[in-house]
Amino acid sequence: MKNYTRSNEPTPATCPACGLLCDDLILNATAPISIKNGCAKSIAFFEQSFQTSIAESPSLFGKPCDLNTAISAAADILRKSKQPLFAGLGTEVQGMRALMRLAEKSNATLDHMHSESTVRNTLTMQNGGWLTTTLAEVKNRADVILAIGTDIVSSHPRFFEKVVWNTDSLFNKSTPAIIYLAVPAENTKAGITPNGTASTMIPAEAANIPEIVNALNALLINKKIQAEVVGGVAISALLAVVEKLKAAQYAVVVWSAGSLKFTHAELTIQSIVQLINKLNETSRAAGFPLNSGDGDTSINNTSTWLSGYPTRSRFVNGKPEYYTYHFSTQKQLKLCDALLWVSTFNPHVPPNTDTPTIVIGHPNTQLEHKSDVFIPVGIPGVDHTGLMFRVDSSITLPLKKLRDSHLPTLSDVINSIEALV
Ligand code: SF4
Repeated sequence: MKNYTRSNEPTPATCPACGLLCDDLILNATAPISIKNGCAKSIAFFEQSFQTSIAESPSLFGKPCDLNTAISAAADILRKSKQPLFAGLGTEVQGMRALMRLAEKSNATLDHMHSESTVRNTLTMQNGGWLTTTLAEVKNRADVILAIGTDIVSSHPRFFEKVVWNTDSLFNKSTPAIIYLAVPAENTKAGITPNGTASTMIPAEAANIPEIVNALNALLINKKIQAEVVGGVAISALLAVVEKLKAAQYAVVVWSAGSLKFTHAELTIQSIVQLINKLNETSRAAGFPLNSGDGDTSINNTSTWLSGYPTRSRFVNGKPEYYTYHFSTQKQLKLCDALLWVSTFNPHVPPNTDTPTIVIGHPNTQLEHKSDVFIPVGIPGVDHTGLMFRVDSSITLPLKKLRDSHLPTLSDVINSIEALV
């Protein structure tokens, strides 16, 4: 039985496929899917969401069962567990609220699938604070954008179109100059201005970013560097970057913690923040950390306002605790006695484990190892409404329901489990 129906009319949609949450999409869901204002990433997201091979029913060890049976089985696992791990957590605000209530009741540890990246930013913020900005400020004020180790558009495809080249800004400002540091040249076409001005390229290996950012800091405070090249980049090129940042009226430094794949990347983010702080002594500058997706910004904000901590937190007898190192999925998989894996935007599968596993997620999830319990739920922004924080955490945007589906929402399922735990 086909378990959903959708309108054949073009429908306005908000796209949850990246942190920009573009709300100007017009979706035509009849095959082949077309989306006005959509980027390739949004088309891939909606195509995947509208696939017809979606799961029809929940299952126990791969055998189909009804929803109530699956919910009871999930509640049984959590009732017997002393130390459950809630991981993945790919959901929006309402789903996370429900998960937090269940976590409190079952003394669970919470960790998002992209925490490894998020934690690098959190550690920096906790260490000494930071000065970051919003998409609106980038649009209205930025005149120099320095992208470090990220082309921006791979993760946030319409960033330049919607924010940087958008002339509909509050103030009469010049077109921003774009500087790419340690970004492969083939990925930087988006940084060419609409009138054809090329961006400034500082080619470097990503592994050398820590050294290069430290050198930028040294040059900014007029330290003499006894070398002609740092991290493979000529000092003269770095000096030119420093001069551009100093001359800017509003410089914005963009990074993606997920792209800084080296040990102790939080120290490099601290170094970026130090650069921004120093620039603010004489002009205006701000940071713009990109998120990794799957609702990471939404679930960390929800967790923080409900418990005081972002994820990598745990409830013990109703009291929240927080430990970025010990409460990681990787560490907790060795200690937990039950795993609840949630991934509603994408069919991400849980990590391999012998622990009893409940998977609640995207209807097209293809489980290699049949989990104890699998419950397909609706996709937020497709099967049901929802609420998500934008990448800059400055606003939440409502997600729309685009089709009638028999699939329950994550919140419905979690609330039902909670009632039995
Ligand atoms: S830029 Fe992001 S939010 Fe906007 S349409 Fe593309 S994937 Fe969706």
